[in-house]
Amino acid sequence: MRSPVRVRLAPSPTGYLHLGNAWTFLWCVLAARTQGGAVLLRIEDVDTARSRPHFADAIQEDLAWLGLAWDEGPYFQSPRVPRYTEILHALMARGHAYPCFCSRKDLQGLASAPHGGLPAYPGICRHLDDATRARKAQEKSPAIRLILPESACTFEDLVQGAFRASAAACGGDFAVRRGDGLFAYQLAVAVDDMDQKITLVVRGADLLDSTPRQQALFQYLGAPPPCWAHVPLLLDPSGERLAKRHQSLSVRALRAAGIAPQAIVGFLAWLGGLIPTPQPLCVEALAPAFSWQRLPHTPVHLPAHTPALLAKLS
Ligand code: GLU
Repeated sequence: MRSPVRVRLAPSPTGYLHLGNAWTFLWCVLAARTQGGAVLLRIEDVDTARSRPHFADAIQEDLAWLGLAWDEGPYFQSPRVPRYTEILHALMARGHAYPCFCSRKDLQGLASAPHGGLPAYPGICRHLDDATRARKAQEKSPAIRLILPESACTFEDLVQGAFRASAAACGGDFAVRRGDGLFAYQLAVAVDDMDQKITLVVRGADLLDSTPRQQALFQYLGAPPPCWAHVPLLLDPSGERLAKRHQSLSVRALRAAGIAPQAIVGFLAWLGGLIPTPQPLCVEALAPAFSWQRLPHTPVHLPAHTPALLAKLS
C-alpha cells in the first residue's frame, strides 16, 4: 500500500447515520490510525435529488460524537461537477466512453450473468457511427457509458481476498453520466479518490462489484488505484441489511436513548472480533488490536438484544 495512508469517510447525506455506517467507518478510521495515516471526510452529495444538507450536518455531528474524527474536509461532491465534466470529456475524446441511447425497455430481458451477477450491457451503442449518434442525439439526450476492460476486473481485496471476474460478469460497459445529466456515483467517487490521493478505500461489501468500474477509471486516467478493503455488511437480527428505515438503530436514536458513544464503539469492535467481550472503549484504545485478519468475511448479524446490551455498556 502506498504511504502515507489516506482513507476517506464517504457518507451520502440521504439519511441519518446508522449502526451499519458506524461499523464501516470504525474500520476505516482504525486502518488509518494504526498506520499514522490521515482520514478525510467526503460528503457524497453528487445525487442532488436525494441529498439533504441537514443530513450532512447531522452525519458530521454523529461522527464527532462517536469519536470517529477526520483530519481533512468535509469535501462535497456537488461543487465538483465542472471537474467531473472535464474528465468525462477527456474520456470521450480518447474513445473510452460513448453515448448510449438505449432505454430501460431496450435493456429489459437481457440475460442475467451466471451466478446471479449483473445483466451485462451488450455494447449496443458502442460502435454507432458519428452520423447515427448525431441523428439519435436530436431525439434523446444520451447516457454516457464507459468501456469496462477485462483488465479492470481483477483485484486483491484486503478483507475479501482475490476478486476475479469477466467484464460481462461485472455488468459490461457502465453509465458514468445519466441521460438527465446527473453524474454516476462511479465516476464521482473514482475522480475524488484520485484527486484526493486516497490510498485505501474502506467500505461495505455491497460495493465490491463497483470496484472493477472504478478501477477502469483509474486505468484510463493513468492514476495509481487505491487498495480496497470491503468490510462485511452488518445485518439486523432477522438478516436484513441495515437501512434508513431502521430508525431505532440510528446513531441519533441511540444517543437520544442515553447510549454512550464508547458503548457503541466497543460493541462494534466485539462484533468484528477485535476484542473478546463487549466493553465500552474509545477508538484510540482499539487501534493496537486492529488487524484486517480478525474481521469476518461474511455478513455479521446484530444480536436480538442489541439495544439492551448497548444500554448495559453505557
Ligand atoms: N457514498 C457511498 C455510500 O454512502 C459510499 C461510497 C464509497 O465508499 O465508495 O454508500
